[in-house]
Amino acid sequence: MPIRRLWADKMELLLGGAAVTALAYHRSSNSKDGRKASRKSGKKVTGKSVKDQALFNHRAIEARGWKQVLRDFVDDDVSASSYSDKERPDYQALLEAIEEGFGDVIVFYELSRQQRDLAVYVQIRDLCMKEGLYFWYVAEELYDLRVRADRLSLNNMAVQGEDFSHKLSADVKRGMYGAALEGKPHGKIRFGYRRLYDPDTGEFLDEVADDVTQNPVDADGNKLEPYTRAAIAHEVFTSLDQGIALNALEENFRRREIVSRNGNYLTRTTLREMALNQAYIGKRSFKGQIIADGVWGGLIEEEVFWSVNARLTDPKRKTTRPGSGKYFASYIGRCDCVRYISVELPREKMGWKVPVYRCPKCGWWIPVDELDSFIESVLIAWLSRDDVFELLDAVYTADSEDIAEARAEVKRLEAEKEKWLRDAAQEEVSAATVARFELDFNQKVKAAEARANVSTMPEPLNRLAGPNAAERWAAIEHMTVKREVLRELGGFTIRAEKYKDNVPLEERIEWGGLLSGNPDAHTHD
Ligand SMILES: [Zn+2]
Repeated sequence: MPIRRLWADKMELLLGGAAVTALAYHRSSNSKDGRKASRKSGKKVTGKSVKDQALFNHRAIEARGWKQVLRDFVDDDVSASSYSDKERPDYQALLEAIEEGFGDVIVFYELSRQQRDLAVYVQIRDLCMKEGLYFWYVAEELYDLRVRADRLSLNNMAVQGEDFSHKLSADVKRGMYGAALEGKPHGKIRFGYRRLYDPDTGEFLDEVADDVTQNPVDADGNKLEPYTRAAIAHEVFTSLDQGIALNALEENFRRREIVSRNGNYLTRTTLREMALNQAYIGKRSFKGQIIADGVWGGLIEEEVFWSVNARLTDPKRKTTRPGSGKYFASYIGRCDCVRYISVELPREKMGWKVPVYRCPKCGWWIPVDELDSFIESVLIAWLSRDDVFELLDAVYTADSEDIAEARAEVKRLEAEKEKWLRDAAQEEVSAATVARFELDFNQKVKAAEARANVSTMPEPLNRLAGPNAAERWAAIEHMTVKREVLRELGGFTIRAEKYKDNVPLEERIEWGGLLSGNPDAHTHD
């Protein structure tokens, strides 16, 4: 026989966490629609609002860290007196559970407004008083039946109902929230997915990878390489993870005539939005917070997703870099006059027959190939060092799964805190209790933030470092990736010297960041 625990007041219950047992009760408010069977499939179609109510109750319990006991109790929309003795409606089962000592609190989605439910309300309330189940959590408010003001509120709610229009809009919101909690998509379909609907009922069934083959043609009608949108969505993430710039990706897709369902090219803005959308790891978000696993599967591995996410949201990173993509060191290396070096194409008059890096201010130049091969040799030597992982670890710690988890944790804690404070304000909790609770919360949030904010080692570095660095370096296809590595390791400054003076590069170049041998100097420019 379960023993009901007696909690001193609402605050103690709110702070009770998993020691609090909860019963969940809601009504099937729309039984006519809810019980209707799909004509063709014969399958019972469950009323949406019932599911929403159940989800809402579960969420309320989960958010407080309480423990639900027994199944959900669902009241049918039939008056209590019309049941025969054989039928045992759930509210009677609920009464039995209360008598048997289950539950410290009952969670109601709402109290019905309808007259015929009043008898049910009174019966449950009186039994609760008798059995010492004093706490009701109704429509997101906690009530203590021993508190006169709380009883009055509940009575009013049961007898008169609340302002109908007000409640309706709240219920619409809950409906949306419920859909979000269930992981159902709403709104625009994401690139790379398509939706399946029940051909009989038109009900949404699933969102799946869009693996329909597309056959693009160019402006002259020539066939281009076929693709599927799911594969392209995948390519977006793997490319960004390899350090390919959004610009370059946009150009690449345009060349291949890859378009959205509406026939639009994927702009860098679209691509960025895609890359930050948690739907691609199968998460459903509501107002920017992950609240549920989507009913659809993720297209992208979480590790890759968060790695890209970190890359795109790093505030220290500039979004555009002039000259990015073509040459290894342009706009990364600086002249010692502080200007970035950039590339100029061959100009006989100026005395160079090959592309050169040049300081636009000081005017000195050096052939691109010459500087590039020197930098590459130094980079490869550095990446092959025995202690390279030690050095990298000094800068990049924690693994990305932990980070993803910690990020979710921060969001969850913040939402919970906000909610708690709102409730506390309504319940006139003492300032000291609020302060204590807030302190406790802030510490938790801080700890999670600390875990979330460690930077991840960018993928190219991770893959390159080690004894096979030279081989792996040679296998890099995209210049943007090489540039990313050079930038990440700290770049360099080069002293202005005339080319004809033949000053060796090792004397002219000063390495930055990790290449300088000082992990603390690790910065993004
Ligand atoms: Zn200069």
